[in-house]
Amino acid sequence: MRRGPRRVSNRGRDLHRGGSRRGRAKNSWFSHPRASVDPFSGPRVIEQAAPKSLPPESASILWLRNDLRVCDHEALALANTSGTMVPVFIFDTSKFGIKNASPWGFQRNGPFRTVFMIESVKDMQQNLRLRGNDMLVRQGDPVTEILDIAKALAESGFDSVNVVAHKETTWEETKDEDALQAGLKRLAQETGKDMEAYWLWGSTMHHVDDVPFNPGGPGLPETFTAYRKLVEGKKTPVREEVPTPERLNPFPMELRLRSDRFPSLRNDLQVEGLCDPLDHAFPHPLGAMDFVGGESNGLDRMNEYIWDINGLECYKETRNDSGKRNFSSKFSPWLALGCISPRTLYWQVREYEQKKVANDSTYWMLFELMTRDYFRWVSASVGTKLFAVNGYSGRSVGEPSLFDVNPAAVRPIHRTRLQKWIEGKTGAPYIDASMRELALTGFMSNRGRQNVASFLIHDLEFPDWRAGAEYFESVLIDHDVASNWGNWAYLAGVGSDPRGGRKFNVVKQSKQYDPEGWFITRWCPELIDIPPPMIHEPHLLSSEALKEVGITEGETYPTPIVRLPTAPSSQKEQ
Ligand SMILES: Cc1cc2nc3c(=O)[nH]c(=O)nc-3n(C[C@H](O)[C@H](O)[C@H](O)COP(=O)(O)OP(=O)(O)OC[C@H]3O[C@@H](n4cnc5c(N)ncnc54)[C@H](O)[C@@H]3O)c2cc1C
Repeated sequence: MRRGPRRVSNRGRDLHRGGSRRGRAKNSWFSHPRASVDPFSGPRVIEQAAPKSLPPESASILWLRNDLRVCDHEALALANTSGTMVPVFIFDTSKFGIKNASPWGFQRNGPFRTVFMIESVKDMQQNLRLRGNDMLVRQGDPVTEILDIAKALAESGFDSVNVVAHKETTWEETKDEDALQAGLKRLAQETGKDMEAYWLWGSTMHHVDDVPFNPGGPGLPETFTAYRKLVEGKKTPVREEVPTPERLNPFPMELRLRSDRFPSLRNDLQVEGLCDPLDHAFPHPLGAMDFVGGESNGLDRMNEYIWDINGLECYKETRNDSGKRNFSSKFSPWLALGCISPRTLYWQVREYEQKKVANDSTYWMLFELMTRDYFRWVSASVGTKLFAVNGYSGRSVGEPSLFDVNPAAVRPIHRTRLQKWIEGKTGAPYIDASMRELALTGFMSNRGRQNVASFLIHDLEFPDWRAGAEYFESVLIDHDVASNWGNWAYLAGVGSDPRGGRKFNVVKQSKQYDPEGWFITRWCPELIDIPPPMIHEPHLLSSEALKEVGITEGETYPTPIVRLPTAPSSQKEQ
């Protein structure tokens, strides 16, 4: 499926408004809302096994969140055993728009991810309709909306109403789960009906019940390598996919349950950065790929990458390069919203290995899916520490963070650095190209992400790595709480890294991963006449030499805002 050009304003690049506009007193104590210890946060793994089936005369509400697919869907399979099934997706309006911005002033869901989400929900609705069911779409608070549906089902005569959903591991999501559970209990008492919530697992390649440690507890290995060795050493199996139902039990049309329209980005969700006719088209013509949400498109991409172009065969060699469709799989946006299941990918890789080739590259795809799993287990294990400035190394679950950073009190020089980093105007070409790509397309390669994060933390010495994580959360089309915050904490040296932080030598990395400067000139066209290797370090050229290639120092392209590295300066540097 292709879509026509859409318009996205380049105001997307100026999302950062700073914490001060939110009215905090300068230098006052600041506590990051997601890092505070919250006694109401619910369990982060499944505490009680769900039944194998539900009574045929019962009604089930299938609460869809980051699992917008019909393939390999444990929750759908269980909900469909009840005679009546009501799938619902709720656009949680408290997570959109500048008025709900994060502490550093970024809207939580920017335009790229929001558009992708709406496309994915529409595709899910279509796939459910094709199988004889339907889906409600609502806008509001998820818990309130689900309880409203449960009440309507109870009042229409169902004696047993169950909510079925995939379990999440991160703070806000588990808090919702806890609130829903409590709300259902109250509603059951009020109505005299049976009401339960059942949680299933569906977000990792290895199932929560199969991993050789206590997920959600302190038993998780402290590093990814130790985790990988444990899982591989124990030969932890990957389960078969849950069969995709061909027909679904009916949706109770006769009850006329309320379904809201699909939200408009600007009017309903107040998502900024859209629809300015003078701005560039979306998808951006230079983007690595035109990402369109939904399971159908996700599976198309899977087939294209694995089978049509044999991307897996050389994945390990190309995955670190930036800017092209097939350098890496680009599965991440679909994985993040659950449009493709990691288990489906696992079995596709295995099939490819049998039918075509098994090599380092095919293994490396599974390695990366294990990395993704690991960050999930980390989020289940460390809870709100995932969002604490001093992170979770040492696994001090539940203790308050030792110190915090008040966005309103950050020095102007750091505020300026953050803004230049966001705009891709730091004077470090590889960083600038990567940040411009992110702002205009919502995507950046893994290598780019590692470098720009390291640059903000270690070169720009920004006092709070979470500003970067929040910006990524806002702009990334594939934002995933566990992967984003876990990777940022790792690079900041407060996550799962035995080396205490990763500093990347951005000049060395630029020369290594973009030797000809192809990616740099794509996003920094003003540098096009500087031949490699100098394109990686234009600041080393004299003013005269720069003039010869049409660059006025500090005007056409910025002089570096901090001293850039030359050769690697420490062992920690990569
Ligand atoms: C600072 C930082 C922030 C990140 N934020 C996110 C995020 O919000 N959402 C997200 O999905 N990934 C995130 N990543 C991980 C990684 O950069 C992306 O998953 C990857 O670039 C997506 O492109 P791809 O699908 O082509 O990846 P491929 O290289 O083709 O990898 C296949 C899949 O493996 C998983 N994967 C690969 N690398 C990682 C990794 N380092 N951590 C976790 N999973 C990985 C992803 O699901 C990916 O789709 C982040 C990495 C860094 C360094």
